[in-house]
Amino acid sequence: MASLRCRRDPCGVICLILTYFSVFYADYVVIQYVLIPAYADSVWGTLHGSFFNLILLLLLACHSKAVFSDPGMVPLPETALDFSDLRSQSSRMSERGCEGWTVCSRCETYRPPRAHHCRVCQRCIRRMDHHCPWINNCVGELNQKYFIQFLFYTGIASLYSMVLVVWAWVWRIRNERDGEADKEGEETPSKHLIVAHYIILLVESVLFGVFVMVIFYDQLVSIITDETPIEQMKNRLMIKDRSASSSSLSSSSSQQPPHHLPHGTRKPKMALLREVFGRGVCLG
Ligand SMILES: [Zn+2]
Ligand SMILES: [Zn+2]
Repeated sequence: MASLRCRRDPCGVICLILTYFSVFYADYVVIQYVLIPAYADSVWGTLHGSFFNLILLLLLACHSKAVFSDPGMVPLPETALDFSDLRSQSSRMSERGCEGWTVCSRCETYRPPRAHHCRVCQRCIRRMDHHCPWINNCVGELNQKYFIQFLFYTGIASLYSMVLVVWAWVWRIRNERDGEADKEGEETPSKHLIVAHYIILLVESVLFGVFVMVIFYDQLVSIITDETPIEQMKNRLMIKDRSASSSSLSSSSSQQPPHHLPHGTRKPKMALLREVFGRGVCLG
């Protein structure tokens, strides 16, 4: 119910439509202008077609999981909370072992450590990474795995379509050189149209491929360092503030606590990866 709020973001809706359009366009060009003409009499056409469509299917499955699953929204309180006595409330929470919990003034609720408020979703999200218009949803604790899988399959599909298009283009040029292009005039789509489709798909694949690889790398770094981009920025600002204040105050008062990462001790990298992906590699 609550996740339906994000669907109202126009930028997210446009990105969703663009994603589905790009996927179906890539499939259309690969089948119609790459596989059918180049592999007409070969079993490789069926094999490439099946494999490419399997990757697209996995891509769309992970994408819809990332879009429709709950990223880890902090539930809203059933009754309005009274924040007038905030100090004693929060100290009471600490006594109960809820250190690191903060108050979100927009949601008017308590939120667990590492939760942040998303302005687009208008809710607090547990271990929020960022709000991604391409999935029209936040990337958080519960859907990060699907988001990364979506990036992975998009990267593979981009690379695969690039290879297929380049191969088909080379095959076409060779055929023309060999003089087999006499039948070309009989073909319904003109040569220029086919080349235009090849160029568009190549540009699409390069753009999406590079974009997705950069985000994929950032996601893995943020998991391994156990720091979301929001936390990275906050820590950087804290370090800047501390160095500025320490240089202006000279050495006299060193009562400030040392800078700590917001979430305690470092865990092993494999444990951090397992936290996001689970024990096995699966879609479910
Ligand atoms: Zn909030
Ligand atoms: Zn969001």
